[in-house]
Amino acid sequence: MTPFQTLTARLIRSVPFSEQTKHLEFEVLNLPRFGFVAGQWLSLKAKNPDGEEITRAYSIASPPSDGNRFALCLNRVQDGFMSNFLCDLKEGAEIRCQGPFGDFILRPPLRDTLFIATGTGIAPFRSMLHWLFPSEEETMEDGGPRPSNGDSTGHPRHQGRQLWLLFGSRYEKDIYYHDEFLRLAQAHANFHYRPTLSRGGPNWQGLRGYVQEHVRGILQDRTDLHAYICGLDKMIKANRDLLKSLGCDRKAIRYEKYD
Ligand SMILES: Cc1cc2nc3c(=O)[nH]c(=O)nc-3n(C[C@H](O)[C@H](O)[C@H](O)COP(=O)(O)OP(=O)(O)OC[C@H]3O[C@@H](n4cnc5c(N)ncnc54)[C@H](O)[C@@H]3O)c2cc1C
Repeated sequence: MTPFQTLTARLIRSVPFSEQTKHLEFEVLNLPRFGFVAGQWLSLKAKNPDGEEITRAYSIASPPSDGNRFALCLNRVQDGFMSNFLCDLKEGAEIRCQGPFGDFILRPPLRDTLFIATGTGIAPFRSMLHWLFPSEEETMEDGGPRPSNGDSTGHPRHQGRQLWLLFGSRYEKDIYYHDEFLRLAQAHANFHYRPTLSRGGPNWQGLRGYVQEHVRGILQDRTDLHAYICGLDKMIKANRDLLKSLGCDRKAIRYEKYD
């Protein structure tokens, strides 16, 4: 398969996370195995009501597997075409896409790492984290057959590195995949899950405020971590500037901008 080949994928599961956000699972037709690297994105194509071909990028939210499935996590954007078209798709509908593309992938050798996301910027990190910590008991059926737990020497992919996920949302209902990440953190002492709410209700026990307010506390004067940031431009800029001001090498900071 070449990356520029146009693929057809069928929607097999559509899960609403909120009025604005959906988790969509697709299977690629006529392809027994759809290969990609955790963190990559697909280019989705559809014709708008004027007959124009619209193309938009969406990060793959599921881990690579031996099968032909992939998942997306997307938000409706007001007055946007593609995000609403995809959120309105019915199970069984087919779409066209190209890919995988992108180099927002884990850079070897793996170091202690801070993943920072807001909103649907969680998508590539869900892919990376399930790849790093594969589980036989996954409940989401989007990954097809599960990959083996580690490399050919039997070492786990996460190599015992300390991995933090700092995930910002407004409200508790917008913490996508919350139960999955809680389970992952419970199962792996080296995975530290830090959801933070900017408008959390009185019963919220976790962190509050914007993601950038918690970076310093996680770093604790360390400057040797890798950092990956995904979401909207403003949030990425705030976190890149902060990480650099705290002494992190700009080459150790990677980001994927959605807008
Ligand atoms: C590499 C990459 C990966 C991406 N992955 C995802 C993903 O996994 N999930 C996801 O939900 N989106 C993702 N996006 C954003 C996505 O590609 C679209 O930009 C978004 O869905 C809007 O498309 P649209 O056709 O609905 O709206 P458009 O018609 O493109 O835009 C309508 C209006 O909304 C503004 N706008 C565009 N994008 C956004 C946005 N993301 N948030 C707020 N306002 C916006 C535009 O400036 C415009 O004014 C990704 C973008 C990139 C570049």
